[in-house]
Amino acid sequence: MTKKILILHTGGTISMSEDATGKIKPNAQNPLAELPLNSQGQIQLVTEEIFNLPSPHITPAHMLQLSQRLRQAATEGFDGAVVTHGTDTLEETALFLDLTLTSTMPVVVTGAMRSSNEIGSDGLYNFRTAIMVASANASVGKGVVVVMNDEIHSARYVTKTHTTNVATFRTPTFGPIGIVSEGHVNYMQTINPQPHLPIEKVITEVYLIKAYAGMTGTLFQALNQPTTRGIVIEALGAGNLPPQTLAALQALVHQNIPLVLVSRCFNGIAEPVYDYQGGGVNLAQMGIIFCRGLNGPKARIKLLVGLSAGLQGSALKKYLNS
Ligand code: ASP
Repeated sequence: MTKKILILHTGGTISMSEDATGKIKPNAQNPLAELPLNSQGQIQLVTEEIFNLPSPHITPAHMLQLSQRLRQAATEGFDGAVVTHGTDTLEETALFLDLTLTSTMPVVVTGAMRSSNEIGSDGLYNFRTAIMVASANASVGKGVVVVMNDEIHSARYVTKTHTTNVATFRTPTFGPIGIVSEGHVNYMQTINPQPHLPIEKVITEVYLIKAYAGMTGTLFQALNQPTTRGIVIEALGAGNLPPQTLAALQALVHQNIPLVLVSRCFNGIAEPVYDYQGGGVNLAQMGIIFCRGLNGPKARIKLLVGLSAGLQGSALKKYLNS
């Protein structure tokens, strides 16, 4: 049976080229969109250039637009979708889509570390692999996945780990959920299901702050504004903060601004285990929400989606821990 796959190009290195001086620049049109790829055996591709942006230019408003286009695609007879995206913020867009899409239609996000005309460019290869994964029956109901360098990662935990290496995308705590090998799509593990919130608008005043030795309350005081909707803190180790931050954090709690805590560690989860001033036990008692397993940028996306869906109090806390 022929599979109909929607291709949504958004820009990024996969769409760019190197000039004679070695600089990487966007093209007026994505070279992948110009390829005569419409007959890939049993796969029919429908291509749209929804954006042509480097991924540092992508905002939650763009993510919402993508999500809405994909939601519509699920009602238009598409069997799957591939989103090409710059790698810098790819993990945030992929998670946003995973949190906001409700259908079982496979959605695969991919990109490239080397632009379209560089030696060893990985763009076309990753694109072709992403199409294979999007059209595989085994991908139905798997949620949004990221396919790069022959690996399939869940959108929930994958992160960019290297500035230039093609093997940059990793899932630190437990690895990819599958691999593509000799043209075959193999899933090796599943992750727990999570709620999906099909939001119609997106709030953006949600901030991310990283803790460091000797940190004081200055940055938190600066965010104590009527416009602030939420703050994610990348705390130290298992989830602790320097004691000099506590007064400013308490003032934010009094303003009912949700404070969400993850670890700045690359691997593992934050939990309230240390019982000293600024330790995780102390922070949890203050009302700071521990978010298990997500990194800072991803916890920010999840908080922003939860708040955009109108969640607050214990419902927001439950959502952040799902
Ligand atoms: N700076 C580029 C971007 O995110 C990097 C890439 O696509 O690999 O758009």
